[in-house]
Amino acid sequence: MNRISTDIAVVGGGVIGLAIALRLRADGREVMIIEPNEPGSGASYGNAGTVANYAVIPVGTPSVLRNFLSLLLNPNSPLAIRTSALPTLFPWLARFAYESLPHRYRENAGQIAELVSDASSAWTEFAAEIGASNFLSAKGCLYLYHTRKAFQAACADIELRRSYGVSQELLSASEVLGLEPRLPGFEGGGLFFPKAINLSDPGEVMRLLSAAVKRVGVEFVQTSVTGMSRKQNGLRIAASPYEVHAHTVVIAAGAHSRKLAAEIGDPVQLDTERGYHVEYDMPEPPIERPVCPTAHGFYFCPLRGRLRVAGLVELGGLTAPENPQLLQALARNARRFFPELGAPSRTWLGFRPSMPNSVPVIRPSKGGKDVILAFGHGHIGLTLAPRTARLVSAILTSKGK
Ligand SMILES: Cc1cc2nc3c(=O)[nH]c(=O)nc-3n(C[C@H](O)[C@H](O)[C@H](O)COP(=O)(O)OP(=O)(O)OC[C@H]3O[C@@H](n4cnc5c(N)ncnc54)[C@H](O)[C@@H]3O)c2cc1C
Repeated sequence: MNRISTDIAVVGGGVIGLAIALRLRADGREVMIIEPNEPGSGASYGNAGTVANYAVIPVGTPSVLRNFLSLLLNPNSPLAIRTSALPTLFPWLARFAYESLPHRYRENAGQIAELVSDASSAWTEFAAEIGASNFLSAKGCLYLYHTRKAFQAACADIELRRSYGVSQELLSASEVLGLEPRLPGFEGGGLFFPKAINLSDPGEVMRLLSAAVKRVGVEFVQTSVTGMSRKQNGLRIAASPYEVHAHTVVIAAGAHSRKLAAEIGDPVQLDTERGYHVEYDMPEPPIERPVCPTAHGFYFCPLRGRLRVAGLVELGGLTAPENPQLLQALARNARRFFPELGAPSRTWLGFRPSMPNSVPVIRPSKGGKDVILAFGHGHIGLTLAPRTARLVSAILTSKGK
């Protein structure tokens, strides 16, 4: 075993771990990231790229709970479950059902609203810091409703967003076409979030973020953490072929964080919502901004040199391979909007780190702030990376245990 030591070890180099490392370095701390793969190549690579300052509605809502079975049975719905994963998933699903009750949904939305409220300004600053300002686009984001009924069903969520001060504008079907003329017509109209920003290439931004983190002197150790324990003078981290000693550990291993947190005495109900994307190479995507046909649960994302169609939720754990039926459904539904799309240029499966209440875990471990938990960002981890980094920094600089 090679023994190495550091002040702070960040486990996981996704957008959350990288943003935290950058921030803690700026605080003057010695920081190491332990990450087995290319930094930023997990969920942080393949997402829809929206800095979703409007995304205050948790996944579990009274309406999702009411319609859960019909969502599962409809082949065009955004939700699927791998039956083989059901026994393992049961506790998470039971908690998800509880968190979808009206009083819990409102409470969860309140917590998320507080976290996302400054996301656009925080990302604008963060992008400048890492040299990625060119990859930010400030054209807002658009939700589409197929029918008037679908729009009416969304009114409770729209009202809740309004109560949290989210900027949103109701658009008629013709106003939608005014913004995005190449979309097909929609009876139900749209909802526009004018202050949302988005990344025109999340993968490139991850590359710039990782380079910025290296530039400020964060050391990268390329391996997996397999175990962790508290010792008298800090933490011992098993990361073969190394044994790492650190004063503080930040667990930011995304969907893989549950086992690590449990080892340190913090059981959490983290699981994964698997998400997919298909991409179509093209010089000019047919839309100007991310567009989400809400019934399908995916976003059309105009990226540099390609159109990405990203979303869906498949409950099914971390090890099963891509589900070809979901990828086919994604491509089939994308062609309903843009019939000229041919076969996808590439496909992708990623693992959202998801809590049953959609609220991320950003706090010290129960045993003290020598271990900080920073995971569970679900659908909004990209959005919340700068804010999470600031919160972790505040925990570590505050006085007290
Ligand atoms: C289809 C899809 C669309 C999305 N769209 C958006 C969006 O538009 N806006 C938004 O804000 N969010 C979006 N998200 C969510 C967002 O991508 C995630 O919340 C975010 O990337 C989570 O970041 P992370 O750093 O926690 O996880 P990850 O990016 O997955 O990083 C975790 C890292 O930990 C490493 N790791 C795992 N185990 C270990 C170990 N034992 N030791 C060391 N390292 C380990 C992994 O290799 C990985 O690199 C989307 C997600 C998906 C799947």
